[in-house]
Amino acid sequence: MKKRGLLERLDQGTVICAEGFLFEAERRGYLASGEFVPELALERPEALRNIHKDFQHAGSDIVEAFTYNGHREKMRIIGKEEILESLNRTALKIAKSVANDVPPDQEPNLVAGNISNTNIWDPTDKNSQKEVRSMFEEMIGWAVEEGADFIVGETFYYAEEAYIALEEIKKSSLPAVLTISPMGENIMRDGISIIDTCKELEQRGADVVGMNCFRGPNTMLPYLKKIRKEVKCYMAALPIPYRTTQRQPTFFNLDDNNGCTCPSPHGRTFPTALDPLYCNRYEIRTFAKEAHEMNIRYLGICCGAAPIHIREVAEAIGRTVPASRYKEKMENHFIYGTNKRIKKHISSYGNKA
Ligand SMILES: [Zn+2]
Repeated sequence: MKKRGLLERLDQGTVICAEGFLFEAERRGYLASGEFVPELALERPEALRNIHKDFQHAGSDIVEAFTYNGHREKMRIIGKEEILESLNRTALKIAKSVANDVPPDQEPNLVAGNISNTNIWDPTDKNSQKEVRSMFEEMIGWAVEEGADFIVGETFYYAEEAYIALEEIKKSSLPAVLTISPMGENIMRDGISIIDTCKELEQRGADVVGMNCFRGPNTMLPYLKKIRKEVKCYMAALPIPYRTTQRQPTFFNLDDNNGCTCPSPHGRTFPTALDPLYCNRYEIRTFAKEAHEMNIRYLGICCGAAPIHIREVAEAIGRTVPASRYKEKMENHFIYGTNKRIKKHISSYGNKA
C-alpha cells in the first residue's frame, strides 16, 4: 500500500506518535533508570522490537527510532563511545522493520529519526555549541542513510539548542518536528519565553512545533493554548502521563503527598517512584480530545506512557485500533458487570468489596 509522508498525513488529519521508551524499557527490565541509555537496541533488539510492536498495536502511526540519549556525550558518560554509530543504526533499522511490518492492506508506519537535548549546551561557550552541532549532524546523517521519513528534535530546554537542532535537520531536507520542554520556571533556560521559542522555530522553518515530556497534561495544556494562537504551522503535544501541578510543573520536582510511607532513596519521586502520581487513562483521553479540538495534529504521550495511553489517544480522536479489541468490558465483570448471568447476591456486594 502507498505510504504517505508526514506532511501529507498532517494535511489530511492527525498523526499519533508513541514515545517515552526510556520509561517503558525500564519498566520491562531492559534499561537502567537515571542513566537512561537505550543500549537495548544492541543488547536486546527483540525487546526493543516488542516495545515498538506494542505501541503500533495500540495505534501509533510512527515508529520513532529509539536513539534518545543515544548521542556522543551520553556514550562518553558511560564510557562506550565506540558503540555510538552501531547503536544508532541498529535502532533505526529496528524502527524501520517494525514500521513496514503491517498487514498488506494497511499503510506502513512512518519512521522518525530522533535527536534531543545534549545537556552540554552552554550559551556562553562557543565550543560546546560546535560540539552539539556536530552531535546532531552525525545522528541526522545516520537517520537519513537508514531511511528515516522525518526527524524529531525534542526535549530541548535551551531555545538556542533547539534552533541549532532545527538548522541541522533542515540540511537533510526531511520534515522537521521540533518540540521543547521548558523546566519548572516556565521559561527556556536561556531566558526566552516558551511562546517566543515556538514562534521562532516556525519562522526558521520547522514543519511542526510544540511541546513534549517533563510536563503532564495539566501544566502543558495552558502553554499549548497560547502557542496555538501564535503559530500557523502544525503543532505537536506529547505530555507525560503524570499529575503535574502549577506549583510543581514538571515531574522532576513532583512530590508524593498521597500517603507515601516509603520515599524513593533518591530524595525525589523522579524517576523511580512516580507511580502513584499517574494520570488515569480517562485524563489522557480528555487531554487528547482537548488538544485535538485545538487542531493539534501531532499527538502522543512521552515518558511514562504505556500502550494503553496511546490507545486512549487513538480512540479519543475517533479511531479504532487493533488494541481496541481489548478495551474494557465492564459488563462482564464478576461484581460490577451488567451481564444477566452475574448473580444478584454477588453484584449487591459491590460497595463493600
Ligand atoms: Zn519523555
